[in-house]
Amino acid sequence: MEYEPVIGLEVHVQLKTKSKMFARAPYHFGAAPNTLTDPVVLALPGTLPVMNKEAIWQTVQVGLLFGCKIAEVCKWDRKNYFYPDSPKGYQISQFDQPLCLGGTVEIELPGPARNIEGVHRHVQLTRIHLEEDVGKLSHQGADSLVDFNRAGVPLIEIVSEPDMYSSDEAFSFLTAIRMALVYLGVADCDMEKGQMRCDANVSIRPKGSTGLGTKVEIKNLNTISGVRNGIEFEIARQVELLNRGETIVQETRRWSIEDGATFSMRSKEKAHDYRYFPDPDLMPLKFEKTEVERLHGLLPELPFDKQRRFYQAYDLPYTITSVICPDKGFSDYFEAAVKCYNNPKAIANLIANDLLRELSLAVADGALPLEECKIKPEHLAALVECIDKGSISRQIAQDVFIQMFKTGQAPAQIIQEQGLEQNSDLGALEAMCQQAINENPHPVAEYKAGKEKAINALKGKVMVLSQGKANPSLVDEMLKTLLQKP
Ligand code: ADP
Ligand code: MG
Repeated sequence: MEYEPVIGLEVHVQLKTKSKMFARAPYHFGAAPNTLTDPVVLALPGTLPVMNKEAIWQTVQVGLLFGCKIAEVCKWDRKNYFYPDSPKGYQISQFDQPLCLGGTVEIELPGPARNIEGVHRHVQLTRIHLEEDVGKLSHQGADSLVDFNRAGVPLIEIVSEPDMYSSDEAFSFLTAIRMALVYLGVADCDMEKGQMRCDANVSIRPKGSTGLGTKVEIKNLNTISGVRNGIEFEIARQVELLNRGETIVQETRRWSIEDGATFSMRSKEKAHDYRYFPDPDLMPLKFEKTEVERLHGLLPELPFDKQRRFYQAYDLPYTITSVICPDKGFSDYFEAAVKCYNNPKAIANLIANDLLRELSLAVADGALPLEECKIKPEHLAALVECIDKGSISRQIAQDVFIQMFKTGQAPAQIIQEQGLEQNSDLGALEAMCQQAINENPHPVAEYKAGKEKAINALKGKVMVLSQGKANPSLVDEMLKTLLQKP
């Protein structure tokens, strides 16, 4: 029997608000343990939660971005459980009235045939709700340590329908969510910093059937590779079980990177195990329709929509748009430059190749953020204009570009101060071409014998003689004319 996998994901993303969800304490990754807490976070007696309005609006924006239906009322529930990562003994979450219902996420699948139409499809969402993150436990031998820095950080949970059919699709789903939320500016989604975490629900069914098999939930898929490998492992495990005539039990399993395998943690808990009930400390909040509409108007264009527009409006190839569009900074930078000088292809090339290279060379670890780049979009545009007008050669432009990157100077200034203007003085050019011909009889003979490429050797000599300033197309023309003379 052939089986196909069915996957539904529950993705947790930390919102990057100034303060926590129900407390004033701030949060940032990497602080010394238990330095980012306050009496509310620690659930000291007599403390009460106060809603972070910004986190609520950010969640509404995420919902609008993915086309969800936004709830009319924001309501809070307590999810009760006892565990040392939660000092209150419950987590404030949303049970029966999530902020966002339905919606879809557009994903792009890898494959050799990728182009702008590519392998794109929409994955159905079930809901998005807002809750608070819990503390972090670390186990060292017999000791367990708890850090409450992370406790209380606003956390959205994006729940998909069982609507993905391979580990590649699950991976693409996470990538698409990260791209969209970073665009929106509400989250950084760095899995290595725990800002994005994922549980995967995996089942298999006979290929071609439409029902759903018994699902297993895999916790702890907190690295990019873990998502792929954990799901792959689980699919293979389930296929093997069914092939042996055994049944799959609904349970929660843990992915272990070290073992490259999933292990049973517990049989799946049910909602009633958590004794959900409305939080009596927090009043439901009714949304103003006008505010929701205002937020809708502020949404950014989604990366894939932007990619399609760049393809149509600027005729840019997939290889370039797929570098520029996933990054809002790059794409805004590109459009600012194109407004100054209309040669989108050349500008896009400079950004996707040269600029990216210099940014990643600029600092030893990682890359210089684009905001700190000294080249202004209008200067980049001016550089392309200089090349197009023939006032500098492409070769010189490379040097100018690097100097612009280092100093932030305008290209005109660099070109003028260093006398880099392309040499189009015909008399001087003819003299240099003649010199190259006189001093290099071998390529001259080859060219005259019909080997057209031999002219490149002569061109190279002229470029050296002119210190790179000769206009290449003029040199080409001039050499050909001179070589035709008897
Ligand atoms: P639970 O009540 O166990 O939390 P839900 O029905 O709320 O289960 O679903 C949780 C997640 O599991 C969702 O992402 C959903 O898409 C996914 N899911 C549900 N049933 C299946 C299934 N048979 N196979 C794969 N994923 C599933
Ligand atoms: Mg869950």
